Amino acid sequence: MNERTMRALVKEGPGREGLVLKTVPVPACGPDEVLIRVVYAGVCGTDLHIYHDEYTVFTPVTIGHEFSGVVEQVGEGVTNVVPGDRVVSLTCSVHCGTCDFCRQGLYMLCPNKRGLGSGYDGAFAEYMKSPADLVLKIPEGLGMEEAALSEPLASVVRAVTENMTVKAGDRVYVSGVGMMGQLTAQLCTASGADVTIAGIRGDEERLKLARALCAAHTVDASAADLEEQTLAITEGDMYDVVFECCGAPKSMETCIALCRRRGQYCQIGLYGDAVSVPLDKALMKELQITTSFSATHSSWKRMFRLIRQGIFTLSPYVGSVFALEQWEEAFRLAASSKEYKVLFRLSKE
Ligand SMILES: [Zn+2]
Ligand SMILES: [Zn+2]
Repeated sequence: MNERTMRALVKEGPGREGLVLKTVPVPACGPDEVLIRVVYAGVCGTDLHIYHDEYTVFTPVTIGHEFSGVVEQVGEGVTNVVPGDRVVSLTCSVHCGTCDFCRQGLYMLCPNKRGLGSGYDGAFAEYMKSPADLVLKIPEGLGMEEAALSEPLASVVRAVTENMTVKAGDRVYVSGVGMMGQLTAQLCTASGADVTIAGIRGDEERLKLARALCAAHTVDASAADLEEQTLAITEGDMYDVVFECCGAPKSMETCIALCRRRGQYCQIGLYGDAVSVPLDKALMKELQITTSFSATHSSWKRMFRLIRQGIFTLSPYVGSVFALEQWEEAFRLAASSKEYKVLFRLSKE
């Protein structure tokens, strides 16, 4: 019996009152498992979708899946980490290991998957546990706040390097100046592409940062002359590759319109609801439409390699830091899109 208790933000049932900050037992660490003391945890769009019942969860469950932490205890048989190691983890916490997808390392597609923070107790708590084989050490030199951005960054690395083909010299259009859009643009630029990143009216500050860090060109997608602007940038050719990173219907339509014939379209943003897609327009241009969801072990390893290569600048995206008790304020701020990534601080580094 584990007597110790902790605070955790738990989704217990439907409705806003279904999300409750409560005292629960510290999880017991079984064989091949790692008990992690959470240091920082990021508020993701998915957490807001869960709050609004727009994402499938297995209740009751502690939510939160973007985090950095320190190994507190390891179970019998664990050899990849030791107590005191700074770690993150993949989020496919429960997967069968025997389906066609698991056998290819595509745990996020396992029909029996239960994800961290939606089907398996997550990171909005002082402690969480994880299967040891999903736990990865944080590279030296990467701060704990930045490391809490690993999960969204690994998803970007999967989209750009595993699901899409972005070649040097390609013209790439990234819709969305949030963190996902900017990281996508950073990686495409590092890959040698000529990148345009698009925001909308009111995104001036974000576009300024994007111009400094991510992309050769920035545009306001809400401007009446967007098409002329992009035709000038691409010398009349339009884009070889487009990434939709906002999960907004208008942005999706623009991405389809700006993609050149036989170009590649990638869906990264989550809409949270059914949307209508002008597929005839895509079909008549023979667009190759791809979606990208979450990340594989190899995406995470590649991400850490890219971080060591100095490809990413992450610190500008770290926003306000809240205590778990202030979760409603943190969620409000995250929903307002005033900051790139709102974090909880669960314990000392
Ligand atoms: Zn996330
Ligand atoms: Zn499986």
